[in-house]
Parts: sequence; structure tokens; C-alpha cells
Amino acid sequence: MSDFILTDEGEDWLAEILSEHIEEARKRANSLLEAGTRLETGCIVTSTTARKKVRFQGRQVAAYRFIFCVVNETAIGFDTVVRHRCHNALCINPEHLEAGSRADNKHDDWVAAAYGVDFSLL
Ligand SMILES: [Zn+2]
Repeated sequence: MSDFILTDEGEDWLAEILSEHIEEARKRANSLLEAGTRLETGCIVTSTTARKKVRFQGRQVAAYRFIFCVVNETAIGFDTVVRHRCHNALCINPEHLEAGSRADNKHDDWVAAAYGVDFSLL
């Protein structure tokens, strides 16, 4: 292993947004959150039945991933997933989101499966 840090295209794109388009990105993130519905659990869900996507600066990304990166001003790469601590895959509340590895996320899926939550049905 070397100290060379690989960045993928998505990470570069996020880094550029954070440095060049942060105000616009914040506005977009805020409008998504305002348009969402707040549940008793504190989750903020969008009106779509599928995970919402955001189109921004020529790319399409998952809304929760976009919001997490903009709110925390962090650019994450392909190997980093944004996890839902609330286990609600439709939630976009940045307070319920945290970054983790793909392996962590798999573990979350197993935990959710153990509790009988099937996100494909949501
Ligand atoms: Zn939530």
C-alpha cells in the first residue's frame, strides 16, 4: 500500500461543488429538506416512493448523499457510503446520516433484515 490517495470521479465532483458552488448546493439541500415530510421519528422523507435523486451541476446523485456532503462539507468517494442511522432508506435528515464503509452498510442491511424491514417494499 502507498500513501497515494485515490479519488474517484464522484469525490472530485463533490469537492468541486463544495469549493465552487457551496451556496447553490446549500440552497438545493435546504429546499429538499423543506419540501420533505417530517415524521414522528424525526425522519424527513421525500414524497417519492423511491430514493430521491438530485440533479445538480451535470450529475445525478442520491438526495441523502448530496445533503450529507453539503451539510457536512465533506467530499466522499465511491467506497464511502452514507448510512441511515434510523434505518429509513428514504430519510434525508442530515442528523440521521453518517458516513461509513461499504462493509458497515452491509452489516446494517443484516440488522434491518433481522428486524423484518424490507426496504424494497417501501
Ligand atoms: Zn431518519
